[in-house]
Amino acid sequence: MAAAEDLAVPRPVDEIVDVLIIGSGASGAAVAWGLVGTRLKILCLEQGDWIKPADFPANGRDWEARRYADFDISPNRRARDTDYPVNDDNSPMKVANFNGVGGGTILFTAHFPRMHPSDFRVRTLDGVAEDWPIDYWTLEPYFTENDRMMGVAGLAGDPAYPAHEPTMPPVPLGRSGTCYARALNKLGWHWWPSEISIATSEYDGRAKCINLGHCTPGCAQGAKASVDITYWPRVLRAGVELRTRCRVREITTNKHDMATGVIYYDPTGTERFQPAEIVILAANGIGTPRLLLNSASSRFPNGLANSSGLVGRNLMLHPWPQVSGYVAEELDGDRGPQTVMWSKEFYETDASRGFVRGYTLQFGRGTGPVNEAITNLGTGRLPWGRGHHRAYRTLMYRRLLVGVACEDLPEEHNRVMLDPVLKDSHGIPAAMIDYTISENTRAMMEHGIARATEILEAAGAKNTFASRIVLNSPGHLLGTARMGIDPATSVVNEWGRSHDVKNLFIVDGSIWVTSGGVNPTSTIQALALYVADSIKQRLATLFD
Ligand SMILES: Cc1cc2nc3c(=O)[nH]c(=O)nc-3n(C[C@H](O)[C@H](O)[C@H](O)COP(=O)(O)OP(=O)(O)OC[C@H]3O[C@@H](n4cnc5c(N)ncnc54)[C@H](O)[C@@H]3O)c2cc1C
Ligand code: SF4
Repeated sequence: MAAAEDLAVPRPVDEIVDVLIIGSGASGAAVAWGLVGTRLKILCLEQGDWIKPADFPANGRDWEARRYADFDISPNRRARDTDYPVNDDNSPMKVANFNGVGGGTILFTAHFPRMHPSDFRVRTLDGVAEDWPIDYWTLEPYFTENDRMMGVAGLAGDPAYPAHEPTMPPVPLGRSGTCYARALNKLGWHWWPSEISIATSEYDGRAKCINLGHCTPGCAQGAKASVDITYWPRVLRAGVELRTRCRVREITTNKHDMATGVIYYDPTGTERFQPAEIVILAANGIGTPRLLLNSASSRFPNGLANSSGLVGRNLMLHPWPQVSGYVAEELDGDRGPQTVMWSKEFYETDASRGFVRGYTLQFGRGTGPVNEAITNLGTGRLPWGRGHHRAYRTLMYRRLLVGVACEDLPEEHNRVMLDPVLKDSHGIPAAMIDYTISENTRAMMEHGIARATEILEAAGAKNTFASRIVLNSPGHLLGTARMGIDPATSVVNEWGRSHDVKNLFIVDGSIWVTSGGVNPTSTIQALALYVADSIKQRLATLFD
C-alpha cells in the first residue's frame, strides 16, 4: 500500500513522462497509436519480452508438444518468469493469456469479429445487465482504423452486420469449410466466411499466409496480425518508448487523488518509480483489476478507482463448448488458419429458446496429430494394440470441430481478487478468480451443442461428441472495471477515464459492460483507439 506522499522507501526515480501505458498487448498498442502525433512523451512498460518469430513452435516438428510447455496458453503451466500466476481453482474455466510484447495476440487465433449493435443495448432489448454508455456507431470509425492497422481478411456483405469492408480477400474455405457450408445450406442456416486478422495477400510489409500450420502458438510467417508486428513497429517509429521486462507493482497517487506514476521492477529486479502525468491501464481483464487492487492506499483502502466496489467484479470469460465429429474423407486438419467461417443464426435473443442473448457458431479446420491422439485415447476411440493404427487413420485429419461462443452476462459474484498467499516472481500478489457459469449461459451452451451436433450430422459426421467443461477459457478476459455514466455502478466513464482518479484511464477488456458472443479483440482495440481520441480531444481540460 503506498500513496506517493507516504513513499518512504528510497528508490531510483525515472524522468517524468506525459503518458504511461501499462501493458503492450492488443489495447496497449492501439492506445499508443491513437496518441502518437500529439507530441506527448509516451512510455509503455511491459512485463514480458519481445518474442522472436524464430522461437515460435510453428518452426519445428514439436509444435504441438510446445503448446503444453513454453507456449502453453495457461500462464500457470507456461510459468515463464515473465508470467504471473492466476489462482483459478475456484472456476470451471481456466485463464489463458500471454505476457510479452503483443500480449494475448501472440497466441490468439486471430478470429476477428466485431461486436454487434445489439450487444451494446442488452438492458433495453432483453431487460438484463446494463446498456453500454456508447454504441456500435460510436466505435464504427475506430473499427475501420483498427482493421486497416491489423489487416483483416473477410467478405463484405454479411447480413448479420452493418455494412463494412474487410481489407483483404477471405481465407479460402478449404475442404473443411466446404463441408460445413454444404451442411448449413441443407439446414438453411446463416453462414459467412469469418473475418480474420490474417494476411491473405501481402499487407503492409507482411507476407501472406502460406498455411504453415496452426496459428495459435504464433505465426513465424508474420501473416497473423499480432500487435508486435502490426501496431508496435509504427508506434515505435513515431517516438513512443517501450520498455520490456518492467513489471508494474502499483499505481501511486497524491493527496489530490491524482495518479502520480507507478512503482515497477526493472529488468535487473530493481524497484523504481516512474512518474507520469497520465496513466493508462492496458493489462487485460485480470491484470488490470489485480494492479488496481494492489494499489490500495490510505486514501483508497479498497483498491484504486474502486469507490463503486466493482473493481474485479463482473468477470466474463465466454464459456465455449466444442462439438466434434468425424467424416470419412480427409479434411484440412491443422493446415491453415484455424477458423474459416461463422454462423450468426442463433446470435440474437429468441425468447422461445429459454434463455436471453445468444452465440456465434465458429467452424474450425481440425486439429494436429498429437492432439487427435490424446483426445481419442480419452474418448476410447483409439485403442492400444491391434487396431490402433487402423483406428487412428479414421480420425486423423477427419475431424470437424464447431465452437459455441456463448455470451455470459455480468454477475458481481464472478470476480478477480488478490490471492492472500500466491505471489509472482517479484513478490506481487497473484490474481485469484472466483467464477461460476450461470443458468442462462448453461441453457445457451446446451442449445448451441445441440445445434452444432445437427450441423455435424448434416455434414455426414459420425461419432460426434461435445466438450462441455471448457478447461481453458478462450482467453477473453472481460468486465472487471466496467464503463458507465454513474460512478456508483461503474469504474470508468463513457470514455475510459476513472471516475475517482481523473488522470487514470483503462482501455483493455476490463471496461466491457457485457461480453457479446464474439471474440473480443477487434472491439477491445476499437475501444482503445476511441479512448485515445477522447483523451486527445479533451487534453486542454482533462483535469478540470
Ligand atoms: C490462446 C488464445 C487464443 C485467442 N484467440 C482469440 C481470437 O481468435 N480472437 C480474439 O478476438 N481474441 C482472441 N484471444 C484473446 C485476445 O488475445 C485478447 O482479447 C487480447 O489480447 C486482449 O488485449 P488486452 O490489451 O486487453 O490484453 P493483453 O493482450 O493480454 O495484454 C496485456 C499485457 O499487459 C501486460 N501486463 C499485465 N500486467 C502487467 C504489469 N503489472 N506490468 C507490466 N505489464 C503488465 C501483459 O504482460 C500483457 O502483455 C485469444 C487469447 C488466447 C490466450
Ligand atoms: S496458417 Fe497462415 S497465419 Fe496461421 S500460422 Fe500458418 S502462415 Fe501464419
